[in-house]
Amino acid sequence: MARIVILGAGFGGLEMASRLSAGLGSDADVALIDQSDSFVFGFAKLDVMFGRKPASAVRHYYRDLVQPGVRFVRSTIRSIDPVEKRVVTDAGTFDADFLVIALGADLHPDATPGLVECGYEFYTVPGAFALRDVLDRFDGGRVIVAVTSTPFKCPPAPSETALLMHDHLSARGLRDRSDISLVMPLGSPIPPSPAASEALLQRFAEIGVAWYPQRLVRGLDPDRRVALLADGDEMPFDLFLGVPVHRAPAVVEESGLAVDGWIPVDPLTLETRFPGVFAVGDVTSVGTPKAGVFAEGQAAVVADRILASLRADEVSAQYGGSGMCYLEFGTGRVARVDVTFISGQSPSGRFDEPSPALAADKADFGASRIRRWFGSG
Ligand SMILES: Cc1cc2nc3c(=O)[nH]c(=O)nc-3n(C[C@H](O)[C@H](O)[C@H](O)COP(=O)(O)OP(=O)(O)OC[C@H]3O[C@@H](n4cnc5c(N)ncnc54)[C@H](O)[C@@H]3O)c2cc1C
Repeated sequence: MARIVILGAGFGGLEMASRLSAGLGSDADVALIDQSDSFVFGFAKLDVMFGRKPASAVRHYYRDLVQPGVRFVRSTIRSIDPVEKRVVTDAGTFDADFLVIALGADLHPDATPGLVECGYEFYTVPGAFALRDVLDRFDGGRVIVAVTSTPFKCPPAPSETALLMHDHLSARGLRDRSDISLVMPLGSPIPPSPAASEALLQRFAEIGVAWYPQRLVRGLDPDRRVALLADGDEMPFDLFLGVPVHRAPAVVEESGLAVDGWIPVDPLTLETRFPGVFAVGDVTSVGTPKAGVFAEGQAAVVADRILASLRADEVSAQYGGSGMCYLEFGTGRVARVDVTFISGQSPSGRFDEPSPALAADKADFGASRIRRWFGSG
């Protein structure tokens, strides 16, 4: 039986493992390696930070993962040799016939001067969870939600955060004495979806979220409590919520797999330039946004290709660049954006208006993944 080693048990790695298990059953020899003890959906970070769910409700522990043929190994990956398909971890060395890299993007709040000293970030699990108390204590003032570098995952998340911040401050009776500003490096909130962007801009205007497109915050001045923008402007704040700098994990940079920071792959097969070594999700430069649904779609294609090659079938599955994203609009409503990215073409897609029904769909989306990935139910 071929040895399949999956690095990273996030959106992409979990989808890979469950598909391989479904296809191969207990005959599979799949090692799924992650340094964390649990998986947390990106969107669940917003739920915890805005007090909609307790932290304990959004952690899915890998010890509960039951997938025939899949062995979860909790360990830190120290080196990856893509030529030998050999991986060294704190739990030993793993040799693979097929190696799949799904290690995501590492986040570096300390790479933005002043952010750790006088601001907050909401992209890491500890950062988002810690914000819950900070937001409960905040008694109003100037709030900035801002991006500090590109690329960054889930491009809609800063817009969602600004809208949920409006709800949070309104519910606590603080909205009248607060300003919310959203600073983004993009020209519109969700460039691949003009309809979604238009709906967001309209909502920002309705509720008074100040929108600053094509701007980046490069640092914070802790003494003066101002955000320092890349173009030289300054914005004073009482509460700063930042999207931190993203980089491929150091172990990927050191492996020789990355070019210009991220792993290039064939956009149709997700194979790297090393035969039998694939990469999916945020760690790649495949051309789709860094979001879980794209990692999941890419993992499905790689799993199908590995399964076909093990069965000596024709290997035909190809990645089509499609993804769907739920968008928190506040007041219990969620919208839906479907976009397809095809290399060399403008992205195309559709937008479904925000509604409570789509909020229920989003909950089902998460629950169905947990059932599929963890084998429960
Ligand atoms: C606030 C927020 C909201 C979001 N909302 C959405 C949304 O609504 N929809 C959506 O599709 N996406 C959303 N995302 C984005 C989504 O979370 C990521 O794009 C997605 O998780 C990427 O999947 P991945 O498999 O590439 O990497 P990840 O899910 O990040 O998994 C990478 C794994 O690799 C492990 N790892 C890294 N380095 C090592 C190492 N050296 N050794 C061992 N293990 C290691 C990590 O522990 C991690 O578990 C959101 C993100 C944020 C921050």
